[in-house]
Amino acid sequence: MDKMPIDVIYKNQQDYFLTGETRNLGFRLSNLKRLRRALDNYEPKLFEAVKKDLNKSNYEAYVSELSQVYGEITHALLNLHKWATKRKVKGSKEVLPSTSYIYSEPYGNVLVISPWNYPIYLSLMPVIGALAAGNTVILKPSELSIHTSAVLEEMITEFFDSNLLKVVKGGVEVSQHLLQKPFDYIFFTGSTAVGKNIMKAAAEHLTPVTLELGGKSPAIIDKTTDLDVTAKRLVWGKFLNAGQTCVSPDFLYVHESIKDELLQKMKEEIHEMYGDDPSQSEDYPRIISDKHFNRLLSLIDNAKVFTGGQSNAADRYISPTIMDNCSWDDAVMQDEIFGPILPVMSYSDLDSIIQVLERKPKPLAFYVFTSSKEIESKLFGRLSFGGGVLNDTVLHLGNKYLPFGGVGASGMGAYHGKHSFDTFSHQKSILKRGFKFDFPFRYAPYKDKLSWVRKLI
Ligand code: NAD
Repeated sequence: MDKMPIDVIYKNQQDYFLTGETRNLGFRLSNLKRLRRALDNYEPKLFEAVKKDLNKSNYEAYVSELSQVYGEITHALLNLHKWATKRKVKGSKEVLPSTSYIYSEPYGNVLVISPWNYPIYLSLMPVIGALAAGNTVILKPSELSIHTSAVLEEMITEFFDSNLLKVVKGGVEVSQHLLQKPFDYIFFTGSTAVGKNIMKAAAEHLTPVTLELGGKSPAIIDKTTDLDVTAKRLVWGKFLNAGQTCVSPDFLYVHESIKDELLQKMKEEIHEMYGDDPSQSEDYPRIISDKHFNRLLSLIDNAKVFTGGQSNAADRYISPTIMDNCSWDDAVMQDEIFGPILPVMSYSDLDSIIQVLERKPKPLAFYVFTSSKEIESKLFGRLSFGGGVLNDTVLHLGNKYLPFGGVGASGMGAYHGKHSFDTFSHQKSILKRGFKFDFPFRYAPYKDKLSWVRKLI
């Protein structure tokens, strides 16, 4: 790709931000409404595109992508006025008399880099926060979700001034070219490995970053759980988008006394949801690329397959697969799986698995199924992870009032709802003084003023 356009787009957005127009609240609200109109118009094309990219059903595309984006826009429209208003804070006695305020101001020119697995949601959720906060945005969607990225580009080009919001398509090279620019904020969603490159590039310009990364997110199933409901919720959370979900349960730790029964119920649930042959189900997605398909196949150890294990390279199909009797030595336990393979390990002593997990990289999500308050508070209290759910999977992502993000290897920073607005805003501290009181002891010569200051402070 010709390098000029990126430089021109960046320069134009930089100049445009400096006109001050994006700081205007009415302007921001009208652009959020514009985005809602754009989505409304392009819904059929977006459905078609995610079907082509991932074989996602319209239902799944609506529930896990579009409805969330609509909800985020509505929430921002209803609350932006409140979020953007300067906030008065208390004054500390050292600086009285005075009044103090926090102003939220846009950073300026923002770069959003998104992955392919929820190509609408993960591209537009950060864009909503960035526009709401008054920034300009260049969005670089994934080169793997090629159809959705093309529709996003078409939609945004039709509805938005490129000085405010522009899609720049391309792969690693384009991403790296963008990263050379001194953006005021970079919001990246993707793998931990690439996240490190993003942070290195951002360090050159001291650009602040949010890194929404991945990791191996565990689900712990205690013996006091409701097995029927647990089986249903695990199968749903794992095989949604064929396991290509950043907060999908990566592996299970199941109490040994209930493991066989749970796995049997999960097998029945897979059948219930996707039928005799999931490859024929309208609701079961495909793997995004041949590379990921081959990577996933290499993780399946046939000797450990409890159910599933079928595949078809022609349409990158891998059936919902559960592998039993796994251990940390298995290939499937080395890295984030990011596909429809679920390794299962059993445990008898909760403390011993806590000791194992607290030495692993901090995961993005963590799930606990139990009726025991004690076990719930022990696990949620002791272990560090981005966010979690008790007795279900994935749903914490859907609450706009919860900040969503990782910690350690699973990322830094968080967003959704007001947290997005705050992420894309610099909190500017302002202290205001009048002219009346002007204590003389602050000025040199200090002489014996120290004892007075001590008393006062
Ligand atoms: P990826 O890191 O390969 O790519 C993400 C984006 O970065 C793409 O737009 C890609 O073009 C770009 N990119 C790739 N290599 C680059 C490089 N060397 N320099 C600059 N840019 C580069 O990730 P992916 O395969 O698209 O997505 C899967 C990963 O994303 C998984 O690890 C998953 O857990 C994670 N993820 C996290 C979240 C979250 O919200 N935390 C959500 C979805 C996916």
